[in-house]
Amino acid sequence: MNTTTKFRTRCLVLLVLFLSLVGMELQQQQTIAQFEQRNQQLELSLRQEREQLHNVSKMAEEQTRELWAEVEKHQLDLVAVGRLLQQSRPLAPQRPLLAARSGRRQHLRQSFLELRRLVDSQQSELGQLSEAAQELFRRSIPSGSPCAGEMTSGFGCRVHPIYGIGKFHQGCDFTAPYSTKIFATADGVVLRSDWLGGYGQVVELQHPSGLCTLYAHCEVLKVTKGQKIKKGQWIANVGQTGLASGPHCHYEVHRDGKQIDPKPFLASNGRPTASL
Ligand SMILES: [Zn+2]
Repeated sequence: MNTTTKFRTRCLVLLVLFLSLVGMELQQQQTIAQFEQRNQQLELSLRQEREQLHNVSKMAEEQTRELWAEVEKHQLDLVAVGRLLQQSRPLAPQRPLLAARSGRRQHLRQSFLELRRLVDSQQSELGQLSEAAQELFRRSIPSGSPCAGEMTSGFGCRVHPIYGIGKFHQGCDFTAPYSTKIFATADGVVLRSDWLGGYGQVVELQHPSGLCTLYAHCEVLKVTKGQKIKKGQWIANVGQTGLASGPHCHYEVHRDGKQIDPKPFLASNGRPTASL
C-alpha cells in the first residue's frame, strides 16, 4: 500500500468519525429539546395543580369559617336553652299560683255562663213584655162598633132630627132596639156614668191611649165612675133618654177634649166590638 492510499484511508476514517460525532451531537440536541419540552409541560401541569390546590384550600377555609359560625351559633343556642332551663326551674313553687289562676278562670267562666243565661232570660222576658205592651196599646185604641145595629147618622153637618135645623153632629148614631147591649170599644176607666143634658144617660170612658169614648141616650147604665173596663165589656143598654127621636146609641170619640170622626175607628179591626 502506497502513501497516497494510506492517506486516503486515514481521511476516510476521520470523515467517518466526524460524521459519527456530528450525528451524536444532533441526537443529543434532539434529546435535550425533548427534555426541555417535557419539562415545560411538567411545569405547566405543576402550575395548574398549584392553582387547584389554592382553590381547594380557599374553599376549605370558607367551609371551616362557616362551620365555626354554626358551632358558635349552636353554642349560643345552648346558652339560651340553659338560661331558659334555669328560669323554668322555679316553676315548682309557682304551681299553687297557677292552680289559683286556673280556678279563677273557671270561676269567671261560670260567672260568664250565668250572666249569659240571665241576659237570655231577661231578653225573653223583655220580648214577652214588649208583646204584652203592644197588646195593651192595641186594646187601648177604640175599634169596632159599640153595639149591633145600623149606623144611621155620621159625623158632620146634618138637619137635626128634633129641631129640624142644620146642626153639626158630633158623633155617629147606631139605631137598635131598646135594651140592645152596648160594649166598650177599648180598655179604659169610667170617666162618668150619669145623666148629661140632651145626651140623656151617658157613659164616658178614658182610655190609656189618650182617647175618650162617649155612649149616649142609654136606657140602663151598667158601670160606675172610676171602674176599670175591658174592651168588649158590657157597659150599658140602648135607650132613648135625652133629646132622641128613637132608640139608638150616639157614639163619640174625643181627642184632647174635642170630638173627632169615629168612623176611622169603627173599621179598624174589621168587625164590631159587639161581637167580641
Ligand atoms: Zn147622635
